[in-house]
Amino acid sequence: ASREAAGTVRAALEVIAATVDANVDELGRIDAVAGDGDHGIGMQRGAKAALAAGSAASGAGAGTTLARAAAAWADKAGGTSGALWGVILTGVAERLGDHGKPTAADVAAGVADGAKGVMDYGKAEVGDKTLVDALVPFAEALQRNADAGADLPTAWKAAAEDASRAAKATAELLPRMGRARPHAEKSLGTPDPGAHSLALIATAIGELFEG
Ligand code: ADP
Ligand code: MG
Ligand code: MG
Repeated sequence: ASREAAGTVRAALEVIAATVDANVDELGRIDAVAGDGDHGIGMQRGAKAALAAGSAASGAGAGTTLARAAAAWADKAGGTSGALWGVILTGVAERLGDHGKPTAADVAAGVADGAKGVMDYGKAEVGDKTLVDALVPFAEALQRNADAGADLPTAWKAAAEDASRAAKATAELLPRMGRARPHAEKSLGTPDPGAHSLALIATAIGELFEG
Protein backbone atom coordinates (compact mmCIF):
# COMPACT_ATOMS: atom_id res chain seq x y z
CA ALA A 1 0.00 0.00 0.00
CA SER A 2 2.89 2.41 0.65
CA ARG A 3 4.20 2.03 -2.92
CA GLU A 4 0.69 2.66 -4.17
CA ALA A 5 0.40 5.82 -2.06
CA ALA A 6 3.70 7.17 -3.41
CA GLY A 7 2.40 6.47 -6.92
CA THR A 8 -0.75 8.46 -6.14
CA VAL A 9 1.41 11.37 -4.94
CA ARG A 10 3.36 11.31 -8.21
CA ALA A 11 0.14 11.13 -10.23
CA ALA A 12 -1.21 14.11 -8.27
CA LEU A 13 1.99 16.08 -8.98
CA GLU A 14 1.49 15.34 -12.69
CA VAL A 15 -2.10 16.53 -12.51
CA ILE A 16 -1.03 19.73 -10.74
CA ALA A 17 1.64 20.49 -13.37
CA ALA A 18 -0.78 19.78 -16.24
CA THR A 19 -3.52 21.93 -14.67
CA VAL A 20 -1.14 24.85 -14.20
CA ASP A 21 0.18 24.46 -17.77
CA ALA A 22 -3.37 24.52 -19.15
CA ASN A 23 -4.22 27.69 -17.20
CA VAL A 24 -0.90 29.56 -17.19
CA ASP A 25 -2.09 32.46 -19.37
CA GLU A 26 -5.35 32.91 -17.49
CA LEU A 27 -3.54 32.96 -14.12
CA GLY A 28 -1.11 35.56 -15.43
CA ARG A 29 -3.94 37.68 -16.78
CA ILE A 30 -5.84 37.59 -13.47
CA ASP A 31 -2.67 38.48 -11.54
CA ALA A 32 -2.01 41.40 -13.93
CA VAL A 33 -5.32 43.06 -12.99
CA ALA A 34 -4.01 44.23 -9.60
CA GLY A 35 -0.72 42.31 -9.13
CA ASP A 36 2.42 41.84 -11.24
CA GLY A 37 1.13 39.25 -13.71
CA ASP A 38 3.53 36.45 -12.82
CA HIS A 39 1.21 34.03 -11.03
CA GLY A 40 0.94 31.71 -14.03
CA ILE A 41 4.67 31.45 -14.68
CA GLY A 42 5.49 31.24 -10.97
CA MET A 43 3.04 28.38 -10.45
CA GLN A 44 4.37 26.71 -13.58
CA ARG A 45 7.98 26.86 -12.36
CA GLY A 46 6.96 25.51 -8.95
CA ALA A 47 4.72 22.70 -10.20
CA LYS A 48 7.31 21.58 -12.74
CA ALA A 49 10.08 21.50 -10.12
CA ALA A 50 7.80 19.64 -7.70
CA LEU A 51 6.97 17.00 -10.32
CA ALA A 52 10.66 16.55 -11.17
CA ALA A 53 11.60 16.16 -7.49
CA GLY A 54 8.72 13.76 -6.84
CA SER A 55 9.65 11.65 -9.86
CA ALA A 56 13.31 11.59 -8.80
CA ALA A 57 12.29 10.24 -5.36
CA SER A 58 11.65 6.77 -6.73
CA GLY A 59 11.49 4.14 -4.02
CA ALA A 60 10.57 6.72 -1.36
CA GLY A 61 7.25 6.56 0.47
CA ALA A 62 4.37 8.97 -0.10
CA GLY A 63 5.31 11.41 2.66
CA THR A 64 8.96 11.67 1.65
CA THR A 65 8.02 11.98 -2.03
CA LEU A 66 5.65 14.86 -1.32
CA ALA A 67 8.06 16.52 1.14
CA ARG A 68 10.78 16.63 -1.54
CA ALA A 69 8.29 17.99 -4.07
CA ALA A 70 7.19 20.68 -1.59
CA ALA A 71 10.78 21.79 -0.97
CA ALA A 72 11.49 21.95 -4.72
CA TRP A 73 8.33 23.99 -5.33
CA ALA A 74 9.22 26.57 -2.67
CA ASP A 75 12.82 26.69 -3.88
CA LYS A 76 12.16 27.11 -7.60
CA ALA A 77 8.85 28.96 -7.94
CA GLY A 78 9.78 32.34 -6.50
CA GLY A 79 7.01 34.71 -5.45
CA THR A 80 4.69 34.62 -2.49
CA SER A 81 2.57 31.79 -3.77
CA GLY A 82 5.63 29.54 -4.28
CA ALA A 83 6.61 29.76 -0.62
CA LEU A 84 2.99 29.16 0.40
CA TRP A 85 2.56 26.10 -1.82
CA GLY A 86 5.70 24.71 -0.21
CA VAL A 87 4.04 25.18 3.19
CA ILE A 88 0.76 23.57 2.07
CA LEU A 89 2.39 20.50 0.54
CA THR A 90 4.75 20.09 3.51
CA GLY A 91 1.72 20.05 5.83
CA VAL A 92 0.11 17.28 3.81
CA ALA A 93 3.39 15.35 3.45
CA GLU A 94 3.89 15.15 7.21
CA ARG A 95 0.48 13.54 7.72
CA LEU A 96 0.83 11.07 4.85
CA GLY A 97 3.86 9.32 6.27
CA ASP A 98 5.73 6.66 4.31
CA HIS A 99 3.82 3.55 5.36
CA GLY A 100 0.31 2.36 4.72
CA LYS A 101 -2.54 3.92 2.82
CA PRO A 102 -3.47 7.46 3.92
CA THR A 103 -7.12 7.85 4.94
CA ALA A 104 -9.44 10.79 4.27
CA ALA A 105 -8.82 11.82 7.89
CA ASP A 106 -5.01 11.82 7.36
CA VAL A 107 -5.31 13.98 4.26
CA ALA A 108 -7.82 16.31 5.95
CA ALA A 109 -5.44 16.75 8.89
CA GLY A 110 -2.57 17.48 6.49
CA VAL A 111 -4.52 20.11 4.55
CA ALA A 112 -5.61 21.68 7.86
CA ASP A 113 -1.95 21.82 8.98
CA GLY A 114 -1.06 23.36 5.62
CA ALA A 115 -3.75 26.02 6.00
CA LYS A 116 -2.57 26.83 9.50
CA GLY A 117 1.02 27.01 8.26
CA VAL A 118 0.04 29.38 5.45
CA MET A 119 -1.73 31.70 7.90
CA ASP A 120 1.23 31.62 10.30
CA TYR A 121 3.66 32.35 7.47
CA GLY A 122 1.73 34.94 5.47
CA LYS A 123 -0.45 36.45 8.23
CA ALA A 124 -3.52 36.60 5.96
CA GLU A 125 -6.91 35.71 7.37
CA VAL A 126 -10.13 34.70 5.68
CA GLY A 127 -11.54 37.73 3.85
CA ASP A 128 -8.19 39.33 2.94
CA LYS A 129 -8.57 38.15 -0.69
CA THR A 130 -5.74 35.60 -0.83
CA LEU A 131 -5.52 31.87 -1.41
CA VAL A 132 -6.48 31.50 2.27
CA ASP A 133 -10.05 32.28 1.16
CA ALA A 134 -10.14 29.04 -0.85
CA LEU A 135 -7.80 26.96 1.33
CA VAL A 136 -9.63 27.38 4.64
CA PRO A 137 -13.09 26.37 3.34
CA PHE A 138 -11.41 23.49 1.49
CA ALA A 139 -9.68 22.28 4.66
CA GLU A 140 -12.84 22.66 6.73
CA ALA A 141 -14.99 20.79 4.22
CA LEU A 142 -12.45 17.95 3.93
CA GLN A 143 -12.43 17.60 7.71
CA ARG A 144 -16.22 17.69 7.92
CA ASN A 145 -16.65 15.12 5.14
CA ALA A 146 -13.96 12.83 6.59
CA ASP A 147 -15.57 13.08 10.04
CA ALA A 148 -18.90 12.10 8.45
CA GLY A 149 -17.24 8.90 7.18
CA ALA A 150 -16.73 9.78 3.50
CA ASP A 151 -13.87 8.07 1.69
CA LEU A 152 -11.08 10.23 0.26
CA PRO A 153 -12.43 10.65 -3.31
CA THR A 154 -15.90 11.61 -2.03
CA ALA A 155 -14.64 13.90 0.72
CA TRP A 156 -12.17 15.59 -1.64
CA LYS A 157 -14.66 16.13 -4.48
CA ALA A 158 -17.22 17.88 -2.27
CA ALA A 159 -14.48 19.98 -0.64
CA ALA A 160 -13.13 21.01 -4.05
CA GLU A 161 -16.61 22.25 -4.97
CA ASP A 162 -16.64 24.38 -1.82
CA ALA A 163 -13.16 25.71 -2.67
CA SER A 164 -14.28 26.65 -6.19
CA ARG A 165 -17.30 28.52 -4.89
CA ALA A 166 -15.15 30.31 -2.33
CA ALA A 167 -12.51 31.22 -4.94
CA LYS A 168 -15.21 32.72 -7.22
CA ALA A 169 -16.60 34.70 -4.27
CA THR A 170 -13.20 36.44 -3.79
CA ALA A 171 -14.07 38.56 -6.86
CA GLU A 172 -16.26 40.69 -4.58
CA LEU A 173 -13.50 41.24 -1.98
CA LEU A 174 -10.91 44.00 -1.69
CA PRO A 175 -7.34 42.67 -1.27
CA ARG A 176 -5.75 43.44 2.09
CA MET A 177 -2.47 41.49 1.63
CA GLY A 178 0.23 41.01 -0.98
CA ARG A 179 0.99 42.95 -4.14
CA ALA A 180 -2.63 43.54 -5.03
CA ARG A 181 -3.32 45.69 -1.95
CA PRO A 182 -2.14 49.04 -3.38
CA HIS A 183 -4.41 48.43 -6.40
CA ALA A 184 -7.35 47.21 -4.39
CA GLU A 185 -10.16 48.85 -6.35
CA LYS A 186 -8.85 47.52 -9.68
CA SER A 187 -9.19 43.98 -8.38
CA LEU A 188 -12.92 44.28 -7.65
CA GLY A 189 -14.80 41.91 -9.95
CA THR A 190 -11.73 39.67 -10.48
CA PRO A 191 -11.07 36.65 -8.25
CA ASP A 192 -7.81 36.36 -6.33
CA PRO A 193 -5.30 34.55 -8.56
CA GLY A 194 -3.94 32.34 -5.78
CA ALA A 195 -7.43 31.30 -4.66
CA HIS A 196 -8.40 30.57 -8.25
CA SER A 197 -5.35 28.40 -8.98
CA LEU A 198 -5.84 26.51 -5.71
CA ALA A 199 -9.45 25.72 -6.64
CA LEU A 200 -8.44 24.58 -10.15
CA ILE A 201 -5.82 22.26 -8.67
CA ALA A 202 -8.17 20.87 -6.00
CA THR A 203 -10.79 20.15 -8.67
CA ALA A 204 -8.31 18.38 -10.95
CA ILE A 205 -6.97 16.20 -8.12
CA GLY A 206 -10.57 15.31 -7.27
CA GLU A 207 -11.01 14.02 -10.81
CA LEU A 208 -7.82 11.95 -10.43
CA PHE A 209 -9.10 10.38 -7.19
CA GLU A 210 -12.45 9.56 -8.80
CA GLY A 211 -10.56 7.63 -11.48
P1 ADP B 1 3.71 37.46 -6.06
O1 ADP B 1 2.57 38.17 -5.40
O2 ADP B 1 4.92 37.41 -5.23
O3 ADP B 1 3.93 37.95 -7.46
P2 ADP B 1 2.16 35.23 -7.10
O4 ADP B 1 1.69 36.17 -8.15
O5 ADP B 1 2.66 33.93 -7.57
O6 ADP B 1 3.25 35.91 -6.17
O7 ADP B 1 0.98 34.91 -6.09
C1 ADP B 1 0.03 35.86 -5.74
C2 ADP B 1 -0.95 35.20 -4.81
O8 ADP B 1 -0.31 34.89 -3.57
C3 ADP B 1 -2.11 36.08 -4.42
O9 ADP B 1 -3.14 36.01 -5.40
C4 ADP B 1 -2.56 35.48 -3.10
O10 ADP B 1 -3.45 34.40 -3.29
C5 ADP B 1 -1.28 34.91 -2.56
N1 ADP B 1 -0.77 35.71 -1.44
C6 ADP B 1 -0.07 36.86 -1.48
N2 ADP B 1 0.24 37.27 -0.24
C7 ADP B 1 -0.30 36.36 0.60
C8 ADP B 1 -0.34 36.22 2.04
N3 ADP B 1 0.27 37.08 2.85
N4 ADP B 1 -0.99 35.15 2.54
C9 ADP B 1 -1.60 34.24 1.72
N5 ADP B 1 -1.59 34.33 0.39
C10 ADP B 1 -0.95 35.37 -0.16
MG1 MG C 1 2.32 37.93 -8.88
MG1 MG D 1 5.79 38.40 -8.39
